[in-house]
Amino acid sequence: MSRAEVGFIGLGNMGFAMARRLLAADHPLVVFDVRDDVVDELASLGARRASSPRHVADRAETVLASLPTPAVCLEVATGDDGVAEGATVKRFVDLSTTGSQTAQTIHHRLAGRGIAHIDSPVSGGVGGAEKGTLALMVSGPRADVELVTPLLGKLGTPFHLGERPGAGQTMKLVNNLLAATVLAATSEAVVMGVKAGLDPAAMIDVLNAGSGATSASRDKFPRAVLPRTFDYGFATGLMVKDVRLCLQEARALGLSMEVADAVSRVWESTLEQLGPESDFTSVIRPIEEAAGVVVSADTNRS
Ligand code: NAD
Repeated sequence: MSRAEVGFIGLGNMGFAMARRLLAADHPLVVFDVRDDVVDELASLGARRASSPRHVADRAETVLASLPTPAVCLEVATGDDGVAEGATVKRFVDLSTTGSQTAQTIHHRLAGRGIAHIDSPVSGGVGGAEKGTLALMVSGPRADVELVTPLLGKLGTPFHLGERPGAGQTMKLVNNLLAATVLAATSEAVVMGVKAGLDPAAMIDVLNAGSGATSASRDKFPRAVLPRTFDYGFATGLMVKDVRLCLQEARALGLSMEVADAVSRVWESTLEQLGPESDFTSVIRPIEEAAGVVVSADTNRS
């Protein structure tokens, strides 16, 4: 028996790589994105194109989405011509980072239409999406979660965090706050070492062999900072969105988080200076500029 078509909306840095993996695992896909070029590329790999989120949801019982912002997720899920209006859809799996409030809003609106909402934000970057090694933070109704777990397993490791809408999102914001913190802190620390005359590549080797290792020193610096490519595949605008969502959620819980507040200032200032489309590994650039050094694998310029 041939497999049922799965819907996929949002074919950007993450969505494209995830959709391609599902196609490679013989899941027929019906896809939509507002960008024609990415839809064309996926159609050339065998996906069927749809003309709107509703059209996707007319064809597929399970619809996945990887979208940039809470507003876009809300619109795609519950706006005009959205997933909620589809004739076939039974469950909506949101792989985007939207925060738990948006997840709850989408959950309630879809519940009114008899559609289950499953939160499944992901971590692991474009590399993880390409290799199928993402961490997926899943929450939602047990029966639907069980149904989609084999599909999500093609993308990485699903971690089930319970049935409460938004639980997966809270986990994701905590994860990304830490990712934002260690990238900013590692940038500051390495700039300090370079200013004092240390070789940046040697510093990263030492950090990775010692107690200062972080996801930034292990992955982001060797891949995108030391070679000066700044092409990790995650936009500064999206990182700032995640830090803001995390602080909002912390405030809603009655918490004040001093380290997170300082981290937030660094990211807001990067956004202001370099713009939302810059790669998030560029967070080091204003720090370098202020110090008058460049953190490069090739030369130790100062
Ligand atoms: P992206 O901007 O590269 O991709 C988003 C895609 O959504 C684009 O192709 C865009 O055209 C499409 N889109 C926008 N509005 C749309 C609409 N109304 N209908 C259909 N498609 C629409 O973003 P990304 O980096 O792929 O991230 C997607 C989500 O995953 C975000 O929520 C992000 O926070 C999260 N995330 C990203 C990474 C990463 O490393 N890039 C890692 C983990 C999680």
